[in-house]
Amino acid sequence: MTPLAATVVTYPDGALTGSSVVTHVTTLAGGRAGVVLESTPFHPVDTAWPDQPADTGVLRTPDGELRVVDTVTGGVHDEDLVVGADLPVRMGTEGWTFVVVHVVDGPAPAVGTVVQSEVDAGLRAALSAGHTACHLASLALDAALADAWKKDAPTDAAGHPAFDMLAIQTSRITAYGSTDVYRIGKSLRRKGFDPAALDDLRAVEERANATLAGWAGTPGAIGIHREDRTLAGWRTWRCELPEGAVELPCGGTHLTSLAEVEAITVALASAEVPGGVELTMTTGIRLAR
Ligand SMILES: [Zn+2]
Repeated sequence: MTPLAATVVTYPDGALTGSSVVTHVTTLAGGRAGVVLESTPFHPVDTAWPDQPADTGVLRTPDGELRVVDTVTGGVHDEDLVVGADLPVRMGTEGWTFVVVHVVDGPAPAVGTVVQSEVDAGLRAALSAGHTACHLASLALDAALADAWKKDAPTDAAGHPAFDMLAIQTSRITAYGSTDVYRIGKSLRRKGFDPAALDDLRAVEERANATLAGWAGTPGAIGIHREDRTLAGWRTWRCELPEGAVELPCGGTHLTSLAEVEAITVALASAEVPGGVELTMTTGIRLAR
């Protein structure tokens, strides 16, 4: 294949539509066609850290409308395009070019065709709200567990010991919510975390929810900042909390202001697992109307 350029992505700015040219088409496992565009508003699920699900929507070609049923990450290395679960490297790995692959229901348009992209706005809005809630909930959980640390630990964007970063196993954004799973085992205890802090989970939950209630409806701006517009470019999420601005790495999409938030609440549950405890945080967000 001819060398592919890295896909320019417009979803970090909130884009839902766009016009671009088809640069590559491929047949995916399962027989569906994968379409690569020069630029796209479609957010692909990340292979190594699949927190925010893929956008769906349509591509309009001169021949009609193609449903985009999934959007996945592709990597080009040694002239081979490797897609989705087969991608063996993390986003941004040197020597690889990263592209957005639109999985379409129907025959792929020819390379060189100009297509109009349109993302499902309802799904995107629900996932953006869920992703913002996920970040805010993890910061609120870190704050709620700040006294559980017996040693100096690395800190989060708000300056609290980074429980979320150090213990996270999986993070899944859902429509207007998220589910985060943490593991408290030997390595976290060695870093100074006292698991007794989780004995009264309701108290931890209440502290986190009180912090979140203090943030909901305040005027702070939320946005994704970047210098590189390609898929693998470094991007950060910035949110102006009442206590001050926080900034952390993020590849997803978000609300634009805390003023849009009516309420965010978390529920915590723990379970014994071999070698420690698994903590699950389920987060929900309600938007102001
Ligand atoms: Zn994020």
